[in-house]
Amino acid sequence: MKFRPSNISTVIIVDKGKGSTKTLQVKTKHINRLKHYAAGIMVVIALLSGIIIYLDTQNSRQEQENDLLQAQLSKLKSTIPAVPAAQSQVKAQPQQSKAETYIQSIESKLTFINNYLKKRGLKGFSIKSIGGGDSKAAENKLSDDEKYSLYDEYLSRLERAVAFTPMGYPRVSSLTSYFGYRSDPFDGGHAEFHPGIDFRGQYGDAARCTANGKVVSAGWMGGYGNCVRIAHANGYETLYGHLSHIEVREGQQVTAGQVIGKVGSTGRSTGTHLHYEVRKNGKAINPISFLSLNN
Ligand SMILES: [Zn+2]
Repeated sequence: MKFRPSNISTVIIVDKGKGSTKTLQVKTKHINRLKHYAAGIMVVIALLSGIIIYLDTQNSRQEQENDLLQAQLSKLKSTIPAVPAAQSQVKAQPQQSKAETYIQSIESKLTFINNYLKKRGLKGFSIKSIGGGDSKAAENKLSDDEKYSLYDEYLSRLERAVAFTPMGYPRVSSLTSYFGYRSDPFDGGHAEFHPGIDFRGQYGDAARCTANGKVVSAGWMGGYGNCVRIAHANGYETLYGHLSHIEVREGQQVTAGQVIGKVGSTGRSTGTHLHYEVRKNGKAINPISFLSLNN
């Protein structure tokens, strides 16, 4: 068979191990076709490799991003949501018990002041427990508003009790004569009952009332000379004697600390001083226990 040289290609196969060669006569168009196939396969392989490399880098980038997001997420989880939850749990409990502690403290102080005033001859008032401690039943019954309103009422009562109870000095000076029996300053041989306390003072010094009240008499009163009597709450009355001048009139409302007259030596007096009496239900009692809160 005769081939036209242009149509035929010779393929030489060399076997290096045996040192032999073989020649093969192939149609050139087949060789060309093979070349085309090979080129096509190479292109496809290159494309696939490109795609694989691209996807691989995309994938690893995605993985890196995922790792980063996961780390951020766990960071957020461990900080932001955890902390407020813990805080609210920690806070809620002590606030309740703190409020309860304050309520108990307020109650015990109210009770103390109330008992103190009772000890000094005031009627006082009953304080029912409205706060924490062993008063769970009462606590549950009362709303916060009701509790506060009850405390407000207690404090108002105490305020009135304190304001209308003789307390402190009608004038701040030393005492020259005490409550009780003493030798008569006009007749040394006889004992005399002194129903009040005498305060040292200069002529014209201010004499002040020791509690809120109402003037029941203001004028000359026998041995007391110029004298002011003031009625307070709970059957208390105070009396200021031997005044040189009277600054109030009968029926007038006065407040604690108000000047009611000037120190003098009117009436049965041996010298300038202020005679001060505290009376309970009309009977003179020792004013010494009303001078300071420690008695
Ligand atoms: Zn006196």
